[in-house]
Amino acid sequence: MKILQETIREKGKAIGKEILKVDNFLNHQIDVKLLNEIGKEFKRRFGSKEITKILTIEASGIAIACLTAQYFDNVPVVFAKKLEASNLDQDVYESEVHSFTKNKTYKIRVSKNYINKDDKVLIIDDFLAHGKAASGLIEIVEQAGAKAVGVGIVIEKYFQNGRKFILDKNVQLESLAIIESLDNGKVNFK
Ligand code: 5GP
Repeated sequence: MKILQETIREKGKAIGKEILKVDNFLNHQIDVKLLNEIGKEFKRRFGSKEITKILTIEASGIAIACLTAQYFDNVPVVFAKKLEASNLDQDVYESEVHSFTKNKTYKIRVSKNYINKDDKVLIIDDFLAHGKAASGLIEIVEQAGAKAVGVGIVIEKYFQNGRKFILDKNVQLESLAIIESLDNGKVNFK
């Protein structure tokens, strides 16, 4: 997606060879116009599937998922929670995700009220790195007996191999910007 690549080049900051900081438009300040275009593009790529829910993970996935959902017909967004909140239903699907950016493992949870066995779920997230977050979300969909029909990623870091875990599950993966390498502050797209 050209406009996304241009924005990453202009505003993204590579930290070493592994991390891309995109606080300017995705992870802290949000470029709503760009996210709208991202939503349209996900609709173009997944529109032929009968999607009944969009599932993401808090916090950065929520805006992307909501702006994507506008282009689908009455499809709710559900987000997995990272913290055990006292007001979260006790009856939850749960999986573990290891974050290499934070170097810790945490649980993600979704109330059983919001995914059911008939759901066809599109998973959306900001980044695909080692595939742990997306795999954890797929696991939650499987626990519900529902079907993960796609994974939509804004920025994939191809060199961290997360795509293997998604494709091994036979789930369609669509990444709108694919980064081959980060080098000396430079972003090389695939
Ligand atoms: P994975 O689970 O695929 O290893 O990593 C994906 C998750 O880690 C995403 O939800 C994202 O929040 C975070 N993440 C991974 N790599 C980066 C990165 O280079 N930049 C930012 N901002 N977040 C990242």
